[in-house]
Amino acid sequence: MAVQTIAENTTSSVDLGPAAALSCRECGERFELGPLFACASCFGPLEVAYDLPAGSPEELKKRIEAGPNNIWRYAPLLPVPADVAEKPNINPGFTKLVKADNLARELDVTGGLYVKDDSGNPTHSFKDRVVAIAVEAARAFGFTTLSCSSTGNLAGAVGAAAARAGLRSCVFIPHDLEQGKVVMAAVYGGELVGIEGNYDDVNRFCSELIGDPLGEGWGFVNVNLRPYYGEGSKTLAYEICEQLGWKLPDQIVIPIASGSQLTKIDKGFQELIKLGLVEDRPYKIFGAQAEGCSPVSAAFKAGHDVVRPQKPNTIAKSLAIGNPADGPYVLDIARRTGGAVDDVNDEQVVDAIKLLARTEGIFGETAGGVTLGVTKKLIEAGVIDPTLTTVVLNTGDGLKTLDAVSATSQATATIKPSLDAFRAAGLASA
Ligand SMILES: *Cc1c(COP(=O)(O)O)cnc(C)c1O
Repeated sequence: MAVQTIAENTTSSVDLGPAAALSCRECGERFELGPLFACASCFGPLEVAYDLPAGSPEELKKRIEAGPNNIWRYAPLLPVPADVAEKPNINPGFTKLVKADNLARELDVTGGLYVKDDSGNPTHSFKDRVVAIAVEAARAFGFTTLSCSSTGNLAGAVGAAAARAGLRSCVFIPHDLEQGKVVMAAVYGGELVGIEGNYDDVNRFCSELIGDPLGEGWGFVNVNLRPYYGEGSKTLAYEICEQLGWKLPDQIVIPIASGSQLTKIDKGFQELIKLGLVEDRPYKIFGAQAEGCSPVSAAFKAGHDVVRPQKPNTIAKSLAIGNPADGPYVLDIARRTGGAVDDVNDEQVVDAIKLLARTEGIFGETAGGVTLGVTKKLIEAGVIDPTLTTVVLNTGDGLKTLDAVSATSQATATIKPSLDAFRAAGLASA
């Protein structure tokens, strides 16, 4: 019962606001708050259970709207102490929800098309949301080193958040990531280790390290702090609804790596319904993968409940998890809400990156290309209804994955600095 001892030792001093306990997603058994991630009875994944705020929805809305312009406005719904906004953290969130009318025209969407642009976060991806919460959990449990297994964006987010919080960081990535992601993971001054293998190898290595004295006192944001980390993705659901005027979108398209983000956005919508902050209406959740790493999409299409691991081979490296931990839960949610999971190939990913840039002036990373690519495909297939409100996530910044578009995005002409040369290039308006 080693795991339970940890919980007993740590809970007395733990203040994570409305978080009441950890509960098993499979058997429902409850555990005291601690750095636990698997159920001691059935090994199912644990998630945070809450004492959600009492009071009227109108009061809660007012309290949220009076909060800071970042995820801490939702502190009453997150596993963080009430004074979280005063602590040194990277304070992500409240990114733009862009009404994408040009893109809507191009895709024949009439019901309202929005891009939730998470490239605007401090380290330019959605990962800042989950890491900011994990930092608070790490502080509460007394960890002094922050770590993770990462497909790239997480490593940068952990590096930055640890620097700001005054913690040591040591993060692990596959050795062959994009230059932009490697530099962003290293520049904040923490330790960065490239592992010779793919993400699934990195993840396996980290699981071993956690059980070894070498990793003692380390908070792995996506392993032993995973239940807390995951809750950060709920803030996407909260923000989207608040930015739509406290309304659920009819349809939302979400990229899938481990599937955590998708499951927690659903959890966020459900909480808002339960609290009476939004009207209880049906919504559909769609999942997006790259064809070269599409284990969840393959299972969805085959009607399977289990996800068969794949060996990733795609330019969408931030989504390249061949054995996604939350895959089965993603399948449940897509089926329960009437959504779907689909995939696009690398060429379609590049086309979609350029489509978003050309129509809306938003340069997304490959994960954004995957999400918009799948959106386009599902609209054309009649699966996504163009007459309903649709939100598409752009979860990262295109500057991190320049290689995807650099071959086809170059200077139109290179000329001598003279009007004659410019005229000769044929680009003048007259
Ligand atoms: C990590 C990541 C995701 C999805 O992550 P999940 O593991 O499914 O929660 C999506 N987009 C980007 C850019 C990411 O870095």
